Amino acid sequence: VQLIVGNWKMHGTRSRARELAKAIASGKLPAGVMLSVAPPFPFLDAVGQELAGTSIGLAAQTCAVEKEGAFTGEVSAEMLASMGCMQVIVGHSERRALFHETDEVVAKKLRAALRAGINPIVCVGETLAERDAGRHEEVVARQVKAALDGLDAKTLERIVLAYEPVWAIGTGRVATPEQAGAMHARARATVSEVVTPGAAKAVVILYGGSVKPDNMAALAATPGIDGALVGGASLDAKNFLAIAENAVKGEASRKSLETKRT
Ligand code: PEP
Repeated sequence: VQLIVGNWKMHGTRSRARELAKAIASGKLPAGVMLSVAPPFPFLDAVGQELAGTSIGLAAQTCAVEKEGAFTGEVSAEMLASMGCMQVIVGHSERRALFHETDEVVAKKLRAALRAGINPIVCVGETLAERDAGRHEEVVARQVKAALDGLDAKTLERIVLAYEPVWAIGTGRVATPEQAGAMHARARATVSEVVTPGAAKAVVILYGGSVKPDNMAALAATPGIDGALVGGASLDAKNFLAIAENAVKGEASRKSLETKRT
């Protein structure tokens, strides 16, 4: 099963968010894919209403570390849970770069989500400079380790990882299936070291970075790629649904290849 998550970032208005959710909810979804969308905070309620009674999950783009208190402008994971959020993205590269979220803060946000009963989607990924310096594997391993250190295999069942190379986000430059596959394998190996081999085998790892309908199938056909975190293309219902469809096709072609080999 492929998981496709739409990150709407800071786009739209209340009515536009409602329209987009309605259009996604009315699409025909093939079997073998799960969808969720992460609208801006103020639209969670409206979008949640549109998604009620569908299988599409409601997610948030970030959360505060703290539960409540004098933290002007912050939104706690408990508040998100009370809005019906099932998932929250933590450690998105835009949060890391623009809002100075360190590995330590990301680890705390992940635990805040777990505390509130929300499943975290933890983003990791190297910058172009880090890749050019040959440090991509080391950076992603460090980010995964920092986020997951001390968690047990049971808790890992609630966590989704997203490998998002910063150089591929919003740039139109997608990682090749080989590049993404290799990094997913590296992230999985780190989960194996930090948690357990069983947790590593089971953990869902999404790819993110300029995913579009026409590159999704090849990514989903790659072993170890369990879905996508989609930014720009998730703002168009047709594209988002086409990505879901092509993810199913890609996974099916991978499975038929695997059966042929065995
Ligand atoms: C993202 O922000 O998580 C993302 C992958 O963006 P885009 O699809 O626009 O590259």
